[in-house]
Amino acid sequence: MAGWSGVPAVRDLSLHVDHGEVVALLGPNGAGKTTTLMTIAGVLRPIDGEIDVLGRPLAGASPHDVARRGVALLPEDRGIFHQLSVAENLRLHRHRASTVTESDIVGWFPTLGPLLRRRTGLLSGGEQQMLALGCRLIADPQLLMVDELSLGLAPIVVERLLPVVRHIADESGAAVLLVEQHVPAALAIADRVYVLNGGTLLLAGTVQELARRPETLAASYLRERVGDHG
Ligand code: ATP
Repeated sequence: MAGWSGVPAVRDLSLHVDHGEVVALLGPNGAGKTTTLMTIAGVLRPIDGEIDVLGRPLAGASPHDVARRGVALLPEDRGIFHQLSVAENLRLHRHRASTVTESDIVGWFPTLGPLLRRRTGLLSGGEQQMLALGCRLIADPQLLMVDELSLGLAPIVVERLLPVVRHIADESGAAVLLVEQHVPAALAIADRVYVLNGGTLLLAGTVQELARRPETLAASYLRERVGDHG
């Protein structure tokens, strides 16, 4: 169970992400998706229940400890410093043990190459999101969590970012947990899906299973609206 100031927002959620897997966590506004990511990242303490990363319980670890164990969270507000340059933001997230370099990030996002010395606040929204994702990737995470990658971005930018996320899971074997409001974008790269609704798990399955039953996925969103309005 997880929530804010002791008030539960997510209940009875059992979720796992394997190495090399992209798992989409979907659901309407207020479903508890961000709460789930923040709890795994150690920003919120679980009210009860257990979280294991790489087979070890997190058990009240601080966000710093969780990050050191290989968990990276790209939050909805992107978490980058607008006053710093692109290269300085990347350097902030790179640690000594990481095998991922600035060149790797530029290889994945060539747009960032000529912008390395530019102040981040001067970048477009899409360029900032590339940098925000690059900042998490340069830490070489074992578990990458991404909250609303597509938020506020043009579809063409989303189409460039999502394959990189898939590539990271495929090439580095990282586990990826992706929160998305844009369901088709998430389904395009995910292996499995969980749908949260009103803080509880309504649906779980592989993308192939859900593609055969699109009405089940749609109903898992609608059910909240029925609940909301009585
Ligand atoms: P959205 O897509 O709108 O961000 P979500 O699925 O990520 O939705 P959460 O943000 O996790 O949902 O919200 C779940 C519940 O937690 C909601 O009832 C919300 O009001 C509550 N909540 C979210 N953030 C806070 C906060 N900072 N303080 C208190 N309650 C919060």
